[in-house]
Amino acid sequence: MKRIYNFSAGPSMLPPSVVARIQADLPSWRSTGISVMEMSHRGAVFGEIAEKTRADFRALINAPDHYHILFLAGGARAQFAAIPLNLTATKNKVTYFNTGAWSKAAIAEAERYVSVEIVASSEASSFTTLPPPDQWRIDPDAAYVHYTANETIDGVEFQDTPDVGAIPLVSDMSSNILSRSIELERFGLIYAGAQKNLGIAGLGVVIVRDDLLGRARAETPAVLNYTSQAQQGSMVNTPPVFAWYVLGLVLEWVKEQGGVVEIEKRNIAKARKLYDAIDASALYSNPVEKSVRSRMNVPFRLPEALQERFLTEAQAAGLVNLEGHRSVGGLRASIYNAMPEEGVDALIAFMQDFEKRRG
Ligand SMILES: *Cc1c(COP(=O)(O)O)cnc(C)c1O
Repeated sequence: MKRIYNFSAGPSMLPPSVVARIQADLPSWRSTGISVMEMSHRGAVFGEIAEKTRADFRALINAPDHYHILFLAGGARAQFAAIPLNLTATKNKVTYFNTGAWSKAAIAEAERYVSVEIVASSEASSFTTLPPPDQWRIDPDAAYVHYTANETIDGVEFQDTPDVGAIPLVSDMSSNILSRSIELERFGLIYAGAQKNLGIAGLGVVIVRDDLLGRARAETPAVLNYTSQAQQGSMVNTPPVFAWYVLGLVLEWVKEQGGVVEIEKRNIAKARKLYDAIDASALYSNPVEKSVRSRMNVPFRLPEALQERFLTEAQAAGLVNLEGHRSVGGLRASIYNAMPEEGVDALIAFMQDFEKRRG
């Protein structure tokens, strides 16, 4: 099979060794005679997979015992609703940073349930910057502060955890979880859809601090209720068992690579190379302020008239899914944990060659 590098923003590429492992395991998981897809989620065999995955996740993200790790159906967007529902039994006000397309989507969903105030916004810059701390309006009476750690569409990433004081900090880490070290104890809640850095679509991971349980509004759907899900091992309903199993394989792969510390080093190197190549070129450009550029999603532009040709030739060269999000256009290379440095090198070589021929 010809080597293809998949730069999709999500669902995104898996480590090839994980795909090979899925293929080998598929018909009969460890001589059980059945596949993971066909197992009872309450049986002993899946129970082992479930617990190992939870333990590996806890170890990789350094989660102390007073954090619960939940594996829930519905991806990240389900949490856009679950978070305000679960955290506002006694406080009707929540606060959000507005730093890009995914922040806006999270805000719009929260507004269906509670009153949302904006901590700070970078919309005036078309989301090419992040608002500086002296512009943040932190309201100590709010139930929480929410921010999107990496804006997958705009290519903007918080390089440090925002300091918001004592108020619970909630973060959407869908597109950068396990790509860099974080100090988990600064967060009340972290969540992520699995299909970028954690495996395949349909699964959402929620890491929630003990003291934030028991705050759900009465109307919170049972499947979205963090307290019930924590009490029942994320099995209030039948969880997406296959996605959970794939997550387990991805976590084993992360461990084999040397954990988050090693992965982060590679991510820094990959992103630096690609941004350097864009900045050095006369054809390509990236609009994001350098200090807040995303290590995971690299949007770039070239003259509109060349774009179709670029994509067609890139595809022929085995570099696929480089179109930007439909809402913003342009091009985008997503270089998550599973993208090897050789993939980034191949993209840069193609871009330079294309520039020489067209530029
Ligand atoms: C992809 C993404 C989502 C949406 O994830 P779904 O699993 O499709 O709900 C939310 N937030 C961010 C930052 C994302 O990158």
